[in-house]
Amino acid sequence: MKGMIVIDEELCKGCTYCIYACPLGVIAIKDRFNKKGFFPASPKYPDKCTGCNMCAQMCPEIAIEVYREVGPTRSRKGQICQKDMQ
Ligand code: SF4
Ligand code: SF4
Repeated sequence: MKGMIVIDEELCKGCTYCIYACPLGVIAIKDRFNKKGFFPASPKYPDKCTGCNMCAQMCPEIAIEVYREVGPTRSRKGQICQKDMQ
């Protein structure tokens, strides 16, 4: 399954929980500060994401949104439009 994550870098406190939670190594810490002075997490290898939602479940700041690809019988092929409930 194909997934996609969006991280709100201004909410992120750089705790790295999401990095350890991701089974596929999608997320990494950026090398620049956000406005609060934290190094935020970012999807470094977005093509590997399956939309499993583990990262979002671990995030204490609710900074991660997870999207999953909808199957071709229910939507246009390749379209990512189903947002997970958190
Ligand atoms: S949704 Fe799953 S695969 Fe995608 S970044 Fe989060 S933990 Fe990794
Ligand atoms: S778990 Fe949340 S707050 Fe922690 S690094 Fe990841 S996105 Fe940032």
